[in-house]
Amino acid sequence: FSSVELTQAYLDRIKAEDGKYNSYITVTDELALEQANAADATRAAGNAGAFTGLPIAHKDIFCTEGVRTSCASKMLDNFISPYNATVVNKFNAAGAVTLGKTNMDEFAMGSSNESSFYGPARNPWDTDCVPGGSSGGSAAAVAALLAPAATGTDTGGSIRQPAALCGITGLKPTYGRVSRFGMIAFASSLDQGGPMTRTAEDAAMMLNVMAGFDPNDSTCMQKDVPDYTADLSKPLAGLKIGLPKEFFPDDLSPAIAQQVQAAIKEYEALGATVKEVSLPNTGLAIPAYYIIAPSEASSNLSRFDGVRYGYRCESPVDLEDLYKRSRGEGFGPEVKRRIMVGAYALSEGFYDAYYKKAQQIRRLIKQDYVNALNEVDVIMGPTTPHPAFKLGEKTSDPVAMYMEDIFTISLNLAGMPGISIPCGQTEGLPVGLQIIGNYFAEQKLLNVAHQFQ
Ligand code: GLN
Repeated sequence: FSSVELTQAYLDRIKAEDGKYNSYITVTDELALEQANAADATRAAGNAGAFTGLPIAHKDIFCTEGVRTSCASKMLDNFISPYNATVVNKFNAAGAVTLGKTNMDEFAMGSSNESSFYGPARNPWDTDCVPGGSSGGSAAAVAALLAPAATGTDTGGSIRQPAALCGITGLKPTYGRVSRFGMIAFASSLDQGGPMTRTAEDAAMMLNVMAGFDPNDSTCMQKDVPDYTADLSKPLAGLKIGLPKEFFPDDLSPAIAQQVQAAIKEYEALGATVKEVSLPNTGLAIPAYYIIAPSEASSNLSRFDGVRYGYRCESPVDLEDLYKRSRGEGFGPEVKRRIMVGAYALSEGFYDAYYKKAQQIRRLIKQDYVNALNEVDVIMGPTTPHPAFKLGEKTSDPVAMYMEDIFTISLNLAGMPGISIPCGQTEGLPVGLQIIGNYFAEQKLLNVAHQFQ
């Protein structure tokens, strides 16, 4: 069948089904069919690559030329991006078709998709439950077969956690592996784009397109991109798996612990050996993250001032009124909370007490991972402490919400790669297994993930 037929089938499915999941903010029918037509012409000319004509969805944090790029905020509800993110350009150049822009937490701040200006996305396994966040729309769309694959971003778990809660595969690459150019910044030293797919093989194909140096992002690594599909079938005999005792605390959901233990048993059956390791500073990751991420966010989000782009309040009386009301009316409550925490932590006189301390902790956390990965090839554990929770269950308690990221957030502070793969179910909801590797060990992670599936 043609790309036009395939694309139309997905667009029809989105129209028929997405009322239940709210996984898309914008569906780009016209653009999709235009790209699909072009892809069919490329195919007819015999020039097709792996992605020619394949539909995908982009998290609405990636700038898309001529298409609204909202970051799920009222602030950018009217923002039509004048340029494409590098990731979007790469997929376009590979011949992929853009189905639309997926729902997310506002400015990627959240773990449940409930902070979206467009209403929460819902978990396809149980629509009373959250899909996770912030890339909840991408996870829900892939899980509900409303896109074969999607892009996401992970600042503190936002690819891996929704992938776990929706029963799909989500890979956060090493910081610097994928360009951040045109990816609306939340916390620049932590943000990293990556694939959200049904299988590890699909994730490898996506990463083949996404990874690579970009002169427009000064933190993007000048390092060769291997073929991430090349090692998928490598046998795992002799693989050394580290289990950090801090990832199996007493209050871990027993059903999650059981599924994860069962998955590790399967790896042993494939020839892997298991050893306990320790990441002693795990308990400090959330406090350190909630200084560093809001500090960077308060600085990054200062550009939304009602002047250059985005929302502007009605009839401002002077410049200060314009700033105050545009920001006051344009940002939602979670974004305001982060800006206030960040501005406070960076205030004169508080730097040593908060930001500097948090950076010192960040260094210790990184060292924990480096030490553990000197002893083993990969680290495994649960992606989340609980399966998907009910909508509204944690909205009034931000700290309870922040704790959902306890197993994912430390990896962003370290900058290392991690993948979440589905490893079972409990009471009808999926469970995610997280596999962590050393810097630029994506190929190994994808190999290990693929062998389980
Ligand atoms: N849930 C975390 C937060 O709210 C992580 C978000 C993310 O990775 N974008 O900041």
